[in-house]
Amino acid sequence: MLSPTRAAARPGHGAGVPRGAGAPPRCASSTPPGARGRRVGVARALGSASLLPDGALRERRFCFTTRVASTVSQAARGQSPWQTHSVFNQVPPLQDIDLFESNVPLVEAVEREGAGWVRSRASELGRFVGGEPKQEWGRLANENRPVLHTHDRYGNRIDEVEFHPAWHQLMRMGVEHELHCLPWRSEEPFAHTARAALYMTAMQAEAGFACPITMTFAVVPALRAQPELAAEWEPLVTANTYDPRLIDATHKGCAISGMAMTEKQGGSDVRSNTTVAHPLGGGGAGAEYELVGHKWFCSAPMSDVFLVLAQAADADGAGLSCFLLPRILPDGSRNAFHIQRLKDKLGNHSNASSEIELHGAWARMVGEPGRGVATIIEMVGHTRLDCVIGSAAGMRSAVLTATHHTAHRSAFGKLLIDQPLMRNVLADLCVESEASTILAMRLARAYDEAHADAQAGEDSSDAQLFKRLATAVGKYWTCKRAPNHAFEALECLGGAGYVEESGMPRLYREAPLASIWEGSGNVMSLDVLRALGRSPRSLEVFLAEIEEARGANAQLDVRVAELKGEFADPETLEARARRVVESMAVCLQGSLLVRYAPAPVADAFCASRLGRDGGLEYGTLPPGSDFGAIIDRTLPAALA
Ligand SMILES: Cc1cc2nc3c(=O)[nH]c(=O)nc-3n(C[C@H](O)[C@H](O)[C@H](O)COP(=O)(O)OP(=O)(O)OC[C@H]3O[C@@H](n4cnc5c(N)ncnc54)[C@H](O)[C@@H]3O)c2cc1C
Repeated sequence: MLSPTRAAARPGHGAGVPRGAGAPPRCASSTPPGARGRRVGVARALGSASLLPDGALRERRFCFTTRVASTVSQAARGQSPWQTHSVFNQVPPLQDIDLFESNVPLVEAVEREGAGWVRSRASELGRFVGGEPKQEWGRLANENRPVLHTHDRYGNRIDEVEFHPAWHQLMRMGVEHELHCLPWRSEEPFAHTARAALYMTAMQAEAGFACPITMTFAVVPALRAQPELAAEWEPLVTANTYDPRLIDATHKGCAISGMAMTEKQGGSDVRSNTTVAHPLGGGGAGAEYELVGHKWFCSAPMSDVFLVLAQAADADGAGLSCFLLPRILPDGSRNAFHIQRLKDKLGNHSNASSEIELHGAWARMVGEPGRGVATIIEMVGHTRLDCVIGSAAGMRSAVLTATHHTAHRSAFGKLLIDQPLMRNVLADLCVESEASTILAMRLARAYDEAHADAQAGEDSSDAQLFKRLATAVGKYWTCKRAPNHAFEALECLGGAGYVEESGMPRLYREAPLASIWEGSGNVMSLDVLRALGRSPRSLEVFLAEIEEARGANAQLDVRVAELKGEFADPETLEARARRVVESMAVCLQGSLLVRYAPAPVADAFCASRLGRDGGLEYGTLPPGSDFGAIIDRTLPAALA
């Protein structure tokens, strides 16, 4: 049965109209014959004035002149010349929807993974984000990019970045909903899982503000390596108030955090850092230093505090260490943290990413001297978790838009969503989105379990080993799948998807970032090998999780057997790392889907991704797949 909305877009009401019919006439033919002579005369006059450098420009001016002339003459006849056609077969806006409750795989995961208590909160956020902000804040914050002011009008260095108010509204929303702090403040069980649900919901509004929200969330476990600094800063970075002023954080009672590791000569290989930290006293953990050097990427430079890697020049030659660097010094003056310029990025336009120089910036060491990577890795790990959740959020946003659009747009006598080949494309995108969501939420639960084990004094429990390995596997695969997913969803909207107003270009430009940030594809694959090397038992734990679905799907069983064989030849493992990690990821996703998703979703996933009954592009599921069941799960009934 078609819903009334679908029926309204049926042939006779829109579909089947010949291409081009009803379109406004092209400029050249829109002019009444009598006006043609006048138009040529104007064009010649413009051309002879030699103000226009090329023919194209002349032509544009030519058309404009003609339209004005034509409009005036028709208006004089009492007509409405702009009413050349009626608008039809266009899609109603996707708004006023609960972005949490309508995300069925996410709702199910929240309940299953033990965080059902967050449901009403998540739903409130979902309704909020699914309303006006989704439409406007993200757009405005991206269209009005941050602006760097290095100096004030008198020539004093200020190093401030000015944002559009919409950016601050997004940040305030994120902080007030505790996206940056829930697990560190909540007494409820499975708070990481709960936060993941909130984060995945909010990031469908706009992904740019994820960066400072995530870094503020992720800094906490690294800070705890230096208890007196944690005592000072943890209450500030976990406060649920947002204050963007660049003033003393203790005065504001809240703080946003960033991180600065990457330098010009190396981002993956941070051990090549050349920034030097000179001890101001005896040096050592918690001591004061002065940092001199540069950072090639430093996002959210208006943050209140940063974790920075630098080579500690201690008397005994300490090496790469981690430092806490506030932007405002204890005496209220500004630290020597100088923003050189903002990056002109592919996407992520709402967020500022900068190059900075540290001209003797004051900082304190976090963790032991020479243990910088080991200290900051806790922050890195938690940002990688958010890369997985954020990529799943982007995919969810993409399938929601694509299914909604095709449910209201007709071509060749049918709604697009009813065209068999489009159904395959949509279903394939939905399967990928669900596989990413289910993996992200399982990973979030691993953080809860690992955290609980750590509090119980364990440091290599099964949950901790699973978390370590699955973070690297999940970051590699989910982030790698996102860009092409966004592109394919964009294409479902046809030309409209390529136009900014649809929001899809923003989604598409954002998609590759999570894969590059905090460990690019190769680095993540190598990180999986590193984790396996450090603890061979982590592979057993990982496979045990997958094998909870053993016997339920033959394609999964075969692929898991193949996966086990991949580790037989360690000599070639590095060159095969991407293949191995990909297999680990799809086996884990397949196992989770077989256990917890409806059969049509799990079957389509296993056939296409594990049984290889699919193609290299989306839209290549086996034709016998239950497209309807898969798509209906994504598209809320109210929007169909
Ligand atoms: C928008 C944006 C914001 C960012 N914000 C921050 C920030 O706030 N703070 C911060 O510190 N950094 C930030 N970064 C930097 C980011 O983390 C680095 O760009 C990333 O870690 C890669 O480092 P790199 O650019 O030096 O590339 P490189 O290290 O030169 O790597 C280039 C390529 O080589 C591959 N590669 C590296 N080593 C190997 C190997 N052994 N084998 C095979 N392949 C390898 C990598 O996977 C990558 O594809 C940001 C980056 C972007 C794009």
